[in-house]
Amino acid sequence: MSTSWNRAIEVMPGGVNSPVRAFTAVGGTPPFIASASGPYLKTEDGAEFIDFIASWGAIIFGHADPEVVEAIARAATKGTSYGLPTVGEVKFAEQVTRMVPSIEMLRMVNSGTEATASALRLARGSTGRDVVVKFEGCYHGHADAFLVKAGSGAATFGVPDSPGVPNGTASTTRIARFNDIASVATAIEPGDVAAVIVEPVAGNMGVVPPEPGFLEDLRRLTELHGALLIFDEVMTGFRVGPQGAQGRYDIAPDLTTLGKVVAGGTPGALFGGGRDLMSQMAPSGPVYQAGTLAGNPIVVSAGLATLRRIASDPGLYGRLEAAGSELETRLAAAMHRHGIDGAVQRVGAMLTVFFGPSSVRSWDDAATLDRDQFARFFHGALRRGVMLPPSPFEAMFLMDSHTDADVLEAAASALESAIGDAK
Ligand SMILES: *Cc1c(COP(=O)(O)O)cnc(C)c1O
Repeated sequence: MSTSWNRAIEVMPGGVNSPVRAFTAVGGTPPFIASASGPYLKTEDGAEFIDFIASWGAIIFGHADPEVVEAIARAATKGTSYGLPTVGEVKFAEQVTRMVPSIEMLRMVNSGTEATASALRLARGSTGRDVVVKFEGCYHGHADAFLVKAGSGAATFGVPDSPGVPNGTASTTRIARFNDIASVATAIEPGDVAAVIVEPVAGNMGVVPPEPGFLEDLRRLTELHGALLIFDEVMTGFRVGPQGAQGRYDIAPDLTTLGKVVAGGTPGALFGGGRDLMSQMAPSGPVYQAGTLAGNPIVVSAGLATLRRIASDPGLYGRLEAAGSELETRLAAAMHRHGIDGAVQRVGAMLTVFFGPSSVRSWDDAATLDRDQFARFFHGALRRGVMLPPSPFEAMFLMDSHTDADVLEAAASALESAIGDAK
């Protein structure tokens, strides 16, 4: 064990500031990252990896993107936080509302967790109802209401529910099965549901696409029963397309949460929706929510630089799609060649190799995957210079810098060989 790790576990629970980083699901100890550039991570030991964690999807172009870094540096010289309005916040909000039509107004927060918790409060406040319906295997941050059957983080550690979540809170969370509209109908039937929240492309039980009609049915059912539909696009926003999953599948939710890419790799997120609904937030309305560092100038500058680049690069998602498709095809072929059962599932720049199940439609399927095979695949990739997310219930994320032919070839051939190690 490295001395850094020995020091880390003395001063941080499990050595980390977010559980999945501890490599518990795959064994071993994590490297300490010294720097990153484009598709590459460099460790404190001087090793270099092609990175498919991409800050859990927050990085869309590549690490240390010069335009984003310059925007942050320029902002920092003017002061890092004021606690008063800035023009940057207005430009950022205008940019988001231009790019995502269902969002007419938004509020910035500091993390995806805050975005979903605040969106739920607004849904409850505006409907006067308490119950939220979520899907088993979907993750919406670690707020109490959502920490029930919450996918990757909890699944990785085999604790479905966290101690510390009050029974009373958990009892207002109702669980449905992803891609199973009948289970949603049952959950929503009593008429007490404030909102149905969904990852429109599930990414926190590995990548699980919505089946044709599923999101349409969710839209119809929520409308019918007076519940709001919340798309948690913290992961999918600006990743599966320029308007996220809602653009890709052409469904307008009532509320959207965005994080990760929208803040350009800095700690920012937001929730937004129609003007009438968002106007119910304080101070224009009664639903309270606030943030000392919300709309922080560093976050705003990184987010705005990222969104402007996305908006001015019409080829971006085509490149990500092509690279993702090549990787998907080659990894699926390698599974077949090595005689390994499983499935490679992908939507845009999110991809998961499932060892075991021949297809994954919901958590019931994901739960059957072979964790040991994944751990061998993970370490095989690591030995060959590729950093995968250290959990079988996560997505690999492509960045634009992976679409370089040489980088993609190096990554694909390393991963093909690593699949052989999984056996
Ligand atoms: C990452 C994620 C969150 C939580 O975001 P944090 O910034 O980690 O709090 C919420 N929802 C989804 C879908 C996510 O992928």
